[in-house]
Amino acid sequence: MAEITQQLHVVFFPFMAHGHMIPILDIARLFTARGVKTTIITTPVNLKTFTNALEHSEKAEGASTIHFEVFELPSNGLPDGCETINQAMKLDKTYNFFMAVRMLNEQLEQFLEKTRPTCLVADMFLPWATESAAKFNVPRLVFHGFSYFSLCAEEIVRLYKPYKNVFSDEDTFIIPSLPHEIKMTRLQISEFVMREATGFQDALNAFRESELNSYGVIVNSFYDLEGDYADFFSKELRRKAWHIGPVSLCNRNIEDRAQRGGLQAFQDKHECLTWLNSKQEKSVIYICFGSLAELNASQLHEIATGLEALEQDFIWVVKNEEEKKSQEWLPPGFEQRMGGKGLIVRGWAPQLLILEHKAIGVFVTHCGWNSILESISAGVPMVTWPSGAEQFYNEQLVTVVLNVGVPIGAKKWSNVPNADDFVKRDAIEKALREVMEGDEAQERRNRVKILKEKALKAVEKDGSSYSSLSALINELRNH
Ligand code: UDP
Repeated sequence: MAEITQQLHVVFFPFMAHGHMIPILDIARLFTARGVKTTIITTPVNLKTFTNALEHSEKAEGASTIHFEVFELPSNGLPDGCETINQAMKLDKTYNFFMAVRMLNEQLEQFLEKTRPTCLVADMFLPWATESAAKFNVPRLVFHGFSYFSLCAEEIVRLYKPYKNVFSDEDTFIIPSLPHEIKMTRLQISEFVMREATGFQDALNAFRESELNSYGVIVNSFYDLEGDYADFFSKELRRKAWHIGPVSLCNRNIEDRAQRGGLQAFQDKHECLTWLNSKQEKSVIYICFGSLAELNASQLHEIATGLEALEQDFIWVVKNEEEKKSQEWLPPGFEQRMGGKGLIVRGWAPQLLILEHKAIGVFVTHCGWNSILESISAGVPMVTWPSGAEQFYNEQLVTVVLNVGVPIGAKKWSNVPNADDFVKRDAIEKALREVMEGDEAQERRNRVKILKEKALKAVEKDGSSYSSLSALINELRNH
C-alpha cells in the first residue's frame, strides 16, 4: 500500500499569511505521514519560515520529506522582502500584494506542466489556480482555512441577503435555513458581502466560482464539532468536502509545538513554561489576537486596566511593539505592579504550548479559526473578541452553537483589525469573570473538555478526520 500511495503527489499552494501557511504545513505533514509525496509552493522569505518550523521536526511524523518549490514574487510596487499579507497591509499595499500573487499563475503553470502532480491544494485567495490546474488536467482542491459553520453562514448571507430585512445596522436578523437560530447585525457582516457594486464583489464571485469549479474543499475541522454544518455544506450547498482536522494535533512533541509557525518566539519556551509551571491549574488568562491584529494604544490601555482590576494571572501577546512604545499603552507602573502576575509577550508567542498548559484557564481570542480549533483541542473555554474576516461567524459557533465561550461584546466588523470598535474595561472584566467563575463556567469547561476528547479521537487511526483523509487519498488514487 505504501508503494502505491508513494505515486501520489499532492502540491500545496498556501496564501502568504501565517494563518494560512501554518495549517497548510500541518496538512502537508498529514499527507506525508500517509506515504504521499508532498510539495509546498512558496516564496523565498516564506520558505525560511517553513524550514524554521520544521527545524526540530526532522524525526517527527510526516515532517522530513516535504518538498518545497520556490516562486519569485513579482515586485509590483512592493518593497524587497515584502512577501506576506501582514507586511503588505502595514505598508498599505494590500492591493499590490494580491495583484503580485495573481501574477504567480505563469510560474504555477510551468511547474504543473513539468511535474504533473496528482492534485493541487490551493488557497481560496488563489481562485485562478482552478483554471491553471485544469489546463494540465490536475484536480484542484480549495483550502479556505474556515470552519464549516462560517462557510455555510457566509454563503447563506450572500445568497439570501437577510441583512436587507432590518431597518438599522444594529437590529438583529436571523440567518435563514441554518440548523441553529443564528442572529447577527449588519454591523457584524463583512462590508465586502454587503457592498454590491464594487470590485470586491467581483473578487468574492471569483472565489465562489473557483470553488464551484474545483474538485472539492479541504476543511480543517472535525465531524463531532460541527457535523450539522458539514452535512449542510455538502447536502444543501452541494459542495464536496473532506474534514481532516484539527490539523494542529499533528504537532505531537514539545519542540514541534514550540516552533509551530516558524517565527522567532519572543519568549524562550522554557521561560514561558517555567512561568506557567509556577501557576495554579486553570488560573491563567491567555490573550492573543492572532498573527495579524495590532490593537490601537487606547484599546491596549483598556485591556491593561481591565486585567489589573481582575487580579488574575495572565499571558498577553502584544504585536507591534517597535511602533508603539509600552509607555503609550500601559498605565504607569503597570509592569512593576503586575511583576510575577503577568507575562507580556511582545511579538510571536508559542501558542500551542501555552494553550495546552494546564495552568491556562481561558483564552481571549479574536476568533481566527486556527485559534478557536487550537483552544478546543486544548480544552480551553474562550472569551470571543472578533473584529474582521469571518470572525463574527466563528463567534456565533463558539458562543451559541457549541456554548464554550462568552462574547466580549465586539460590535463592528472592520477590514483593519479592531479599527472601529472599542471594548471597555468593564466588559472585559465581566466576560472574563463569567468564563472563570461559578457553576455555568464549570459547565462550559466540561463541554469544551468533551470536545477536546472528541478532537483527539477524530485524528486517531479510524477517527472521523483520519478516515476522511483516507477517503480523500483513495479518491485521488482512483482519479
Ligand atoms: N500564532 C502563534 N503565535 C502568535 C500568534 C499566532 O502561534 O503569537 C498562531 C496561532 O496558533 C494560529 C495562527 O498563528 O495557528 C493564527 O491563525 P488564526 O486563524 O487564529 O488567526 P489569523 O492570524 O489568521 O487572523
